[in-house]
Amino acid sequence: MTAVKNARGNATGPGVDTEAIHQRLADAIATHRLPPGTKLGEEALGEIFGVSRTKIRQALFQLAGDKLVTLIPGRGAFVAQPSVREAREVFEARRIIEAAVVARFIEVATAKDIDALNDHIVLEDEAIKAGTPQSRNHLLGDFHEVIARAAGNVVLTEILSELVARTSLITLFYQNTRGAAESLEEHRLLLKAIRRRDRAAAVELMHRHLSNVEAGLVLREETPAGADLRAALS
Ligand SMILES: [Zn+2]
Repeated sequence: MTAVKNARGNATGPGVDTEAIHQRLADAIATHRLPPGTKLGEEALGEIFGVSRTKIRQALFQLAGDKLVTLIPGRGAFVAQPSVREAREVFEARRIIEAAVVARFIEVATAKDIDALNDHIVLEDEAIKAGTPQSRNHLLGDFHEVIARAAGNVVLTEILSELVARTSLITLFYQNTRGAAESLEEHRLLLKAIRRRDRAAAVELMHRHLSNVEAGLVLREETPAGADLRAALS
């Protein structure tokens, strides 16, 4: 079976695989062509992509794993909408966990760990200068995971990874009024405190950094708006 291309050059037809459907839907969600709350009907999507409902269901299941889609029993799949409350709780949890993580990092970090953190900041700087939002955002989030991994508590690292992923979804859905350069600057200040092994300053800077990121979001409850699936995907 072969895929055919529609007017925009996107592959459709029975040859399209689950991964391609997953990717197209993820892109449409990330670029807000499919806004939060949009119902993702299996039948409608099956027609749009020209594939069976089984493939659609698999793609939706993957998207639910990415937390981009919410599956509601008996009602179907919807583009995920992190609530304002959820957003605030994620940041609160991050402040608590990351204050402990950075304090632990200062206790155990070797010179090599600190150099690795510095190298990471250099990459963030390059991505910001290159103006590539996707790798920039990914690197800014990863900074926090680098600290957690080096701090050495596997359980805390796993919890933080999930919280960082949820944060990117939240910053995707709530307009971020803060520039990436501000986060980079705060990462640099943190590194300075870490180099001095100044635990109190590092904990304080981490706390303030996460509060600043949260304050940069326009957190107001929005009524879920539907979108026309065919228009968004074709
Ligand atoms: Zn940060």
